[in-house]
Amino acid sequence: MSLITLPNRTGRVSIVGAGPGDPELLTVKALRAIQGADVVLYDALVSEPILALINPEAECIAVGKRCGRHSMSQEEINRLLVAKAASGDRAVVRLKGGDPLMFGRGGEEMQALRASGIDYEVVPGVTAATACASYGAIPLTHRTLSRGVTFVTGHGMGGEPISDWHKLALSHHTLVIYMGVARAGTIATGLMEGGLSGDTPVAIVSRASQPQQTVVTGRLDALEQLATDPRVQTPAALIVGDVVSLHHSLEWFSAELLGEEVVQQQFG
Ligand code: SAH
Repeated sequence: MSLITLPNRTGRVSIVGAGPGDPELLTVKALRAIQGADVVLYDALVSEPILALINPEAECIAVGKRCGRHSMSQEEINRLLVAKAASGDRAVVRLKGGDPLMFGRGGEEMQALRASGIDYEVVPGVTAATACASYGAIPLTHRTLSRGVTFVTGHGMGGEPISDWHKLALSHHTLVIYMGVARAGTIATGLMEGGLSGDTPVAIVSRASQPQQTVVTGRLDALEQLATDPRVQTPAALIVGDVVSLHHSLEWFSAELLGEEVVQQQFG
């Protein structure tokens, strides 16, 4: 990937979405921000090829959390972000997987910065739902099959289960469930109680846009079992709805279809 050189920004925080993993899915603005950064606080979800694009002189701090292994609490991250931004005229980047404002706690970080009088900008990123849709070849909406889409998290604040899945059982609708693999059984039961048929197509897309991407498909009444398929890896998102039935005829991104080398090349 050719590097674009643009003037650095200093004196404020850029909250930047890194997208789902493929560095070519970074926006030009995101690339410029990480290349011009003096300090980068990054999450565990940010892929290695993207970390490799950060200004080599920058101070890089891993603050990420993954699968319950919290390296820092959100409050600690907020405090560190404020401290780094307040300590001199340095370009501080808060680099987050996907989009910062989609299940990314970007809003909490904006609140902490605003409360401390620190300016910020937010650079959107390709969120997991759209990456899973594009690279998993599952249109989120499609005439005749789905008129709308809901992005929802599989677990509530503090990790407690969400009990009202039945309310999300809508016909001609697609659900993309983030952080839902561990609760696949509860989710499927709730959706079927709400009226979705057991034969509603479902997919689990793992590591969307990355060379290791996998897509496993099945039926809603077998979702819990599907979640234990060894091809399912983290991070992964669930897609529920009739649009999943299009996957097999539209598939285009996999090491088998493109050849291992082509998929690796996409990672520069
Ligand atoms: N801000 C991120 C989401 C963070 S929550 C975004 O906009 O994408 C973390 C969840 O996102 C994971 O549990 C998984 O459900 C989903 N996710 C993130 N990256 C993914 C990827 N490359 N492939 C599939 N799911 C992904």
